[in-house]
Amino acid sequence: MSNSEKTDIIRVATLGAPRIGPRRELKTALESYWSGKSDAATLETAAAGLRAANWARQKARGVAVIPSNDFSLYDHVLDVSAMAGVVPERYGWSGGPVPLDAYFAMARGRQGGEAHGACGCGHAGAAALEMTKWFDTNYHYMVPEFSRAQRFALSSTKVVSEFCEALALGHKTRPVLVGPVTYLRLGKSADAGFDPIALIDDLLPVYVEVLKRLAAHGADWAQLDEPCLALDLDAAARKALADAYARFAREVPSLKIMLATYFGGLGDNLGTALALPVAGLHLDLVRAPTQLDLAVARAPKDLTLSLGVIDGRNVWRADLAPIVERLAPVVAARGAERIELAPSCSLLHTPVDLASEDALDPDVKRWLAFSVQKMEELSILARALSHGADSVKPELTSSSIAARARRESPKIHDPEVAMRLARVTPDMTRRRSAFAERAVKQRKGLDLPAYPTTTIGSFPQTPEVRKARAANANGALPDADYVDFLRKVTASAIRWQEEIGLDVLAHGEFERNDMVQYFGEQLAGFAFTRHGWVQSYGSRCVRPPILYGDVSRPKPMTVEWWSYSQSLTSKPMKGMLTGPVTILNWSFVRDDIPRATACRQIALAIRDEVEDLEAAGASVIQIDEAALREGLPLRRGEWKTYLDWAVASFRLCSSGVEDATQIHTHMCYSEFNDIIASIGAMDADVISIETSRSRMELLDAFVGYRYPAEIGPGVYDIHSPRVPSVEEMVELLERARERIAPEQLWVNPDCGLKTRKWEEVKPALVNMVAAARRLRDRA
Ligand code: GLN
Ligand code: ZN
Repeated sequence: MSNSEKTDIIRVATLGAPRIGPRRELKTALESYWSGKSDAATLETAAAGLRAANWARQKARGVAVIPSNDFSLYDHVLDVSAMAGVVPERYGWSGGPVPLDAYFAMARGRQGGEAHGACGCGHAGAAALEMTKWFDTNYHYMVPEFSRAQRFALSSTKVVSEFCEALALGHKTRPVLVGPVTYLRLGKSADAGFDPIALIDDLLPVYVEVLKRLAAHGADWAQLDEPCLALDLDAAARKALADAYARFAREVPSLKIMLATYFGGLGDNLGTALALPVAGLHLDLVRAPTQLDLAVARAPKDLTLSLGVIDGRNVWRADLAPIVERLAPVVAARGAERIELAPSCSLLHTPVDLASEDALDPDVKRWLAFSVQKMEELSILARALSHGADSVKPELTSSSIAARARRESPKIHDPEVAMRLARVTPDMTRRRSAFAERAVKQRKGLDLPAYPTTTIGSFPQTPEVRKARAANANGALPDADYVDFLRKVTASAIRWQEEIGLDVLAHGEFERNDMVQYFGEQLAGFAFTRHGWVQSYGSRCVRPPILYGDVSRPKPMTVEWWSYSQSLTSKPMKGMLTGPVTILNWSFVRDDIPRATACRQIALAIRDEVEDLEAAGASVIQIDEAALREGLPLRRGEWKTYLDWAVASFRLCSSGVEDATQIHTHMCYSEFNDIIASIGAMDADVISIETSRSRMELLDAFVGYRYPAEIGPGVYDIHSPRVPSVEEMVELLERARERIAPEQLWVNPDCGLKTRKWEEVKPALVNMVAAARRLRDRA
């Protein structure tokens, strides 16, 4: 770093690069190791290759501040747990360096009695650490488990060795670590009422030791990520921040710290952040562009500001000229050597390289930038701000032309969609009658028994189903044969549901690759990549659709499959749709209109589908909103705005139907307490939720709220291969009955069954139907 500081060009940093590799090489290497096909050395070689390629890729794009330790074999929060020896007892670790197999056991759990990895011993089984979303991204981290008596000890020197590894390749990197306060704050405590923040003094020596070792090996800077600064912080967390960074400054004075905040503005934490004795502060200026002026005005003169101006959370190419204009005065005022240019957050959340997309609409492709392109954009900005805009005139011009082309493209703007949206009236978001009246008509029409049984939609996506889909996609299986095949598996799933006596049937979703992609591919306004993967957790990657334009539905999407399925049975067949909020939250969304507007567009398209299903004869239509909760803003103060438009979108898509048509919704997650009023406001007739693990306690939110409509609390944990017994499910249903009225209660699994095997699903659902019958018999 000291070298680059002397040059007169503003430094570019990335904060972190995608770690999966351009072709998901990390996934391949991990899964091969886990399945025993390759050994630890092979995995380590593959990982080192990915790191080296990442460093080289950044260097080639003019990135001066290259991160190390942004790589992880599974998760960077889990890496800190390994570093600090936060390994719960059940993994059988007794100090010393945390072995690879203990690390993966924390990530993925360990089967009981099995020989594992190289050591060949038979450790007892151990459940994985809990996994949850990293702030408001779709990246999941492994939740650290602390106890009141938590001890910390330096147990992994990955940070140091990866720094040295880069050094040996000629890169003096800036190592990255999740900061101590964010780390503690993301953890949970086994002891009720104990706030892990209280552990800060015990944790800090581990960080100090690591930072010292980094300095001893020649590091000039370290990047400590404290995205918790974008959250509402209490006094204890603020004090922990002050203590931690004071201690680093005191005990490792030679190492400069870049304190990275992202995913939002600092807001009321700005003063806290600026008071910390650090050498640099990174600001997310994409999510919170307006914080720049205040931060510049209040920042100490010698503080290096890292300006996060390129969106690290989305895939759009930036319009560079206005950014140059905006930043030029800041650079002039503070001096180029006190400025870094960066993405808003680590590039971990963007796909690797747009260049590998050979099947995208060329217009849409010109509007996009993945991690590699974002590095290039930052370099252009750095040159423009260091040597004047003229030094990169062609680049700035091409960026402006692309931005203008996107703004004006007829592919984005559909006047009919705008017109429809303008014509939405409030009564379009209201059902004709209140739930109580609708319920009477629905009961009459559907004629269901008490405790009606159903499933959430999907049935096992067997290897056979996946093979057929792949064969159809690569042309080996003609469309007609593929459809034939799908009809066969659908018909047999329906026959089987009838046989076991389910009351409301589902067709099984065999024709769907994914609950969002399936709809995105049929809607106008969405594009799909071939290699645009981003890490979701561990080896799991997702390839989100890109929502680039106004959304409309050229033709019915599910009606044919529904009609075919209903024709095979006299039981009600559910129409099965993904809701607008979920489609939005699981996509890369256009940044030229508000998210709320994009969501309403999708809602109108889904509304068309709902109405067509009803016209075709569907009397039960389920609209899944699995991702409604995860769209919640990080700051409480912003929740209401989001929930209001999210609920309005759901109502817009679901309210066009007759009273007698029963609208179901489904949400997999479990915490409802703080959003229950919004769940109520969705005004669905039936909601199915995931409650088996909490043993129905999650129903309490609905009880407290006096939720008037019907509820299907899951009685079958579909995340486990275990087949629940009739008794177990009866007991869960009785617990539900203690909480809600019998006429409100449905019987269903926690979620869809696509990831399970038929051998598990069949006995489990047979038992579930038996459990419902037992309840009916008792009444
Ligand atoms: N209908 C979907 C299914 O059964 C719902 C999945 C989900 O909520 N994640 O697969
Ligand atoms: Zn679900």
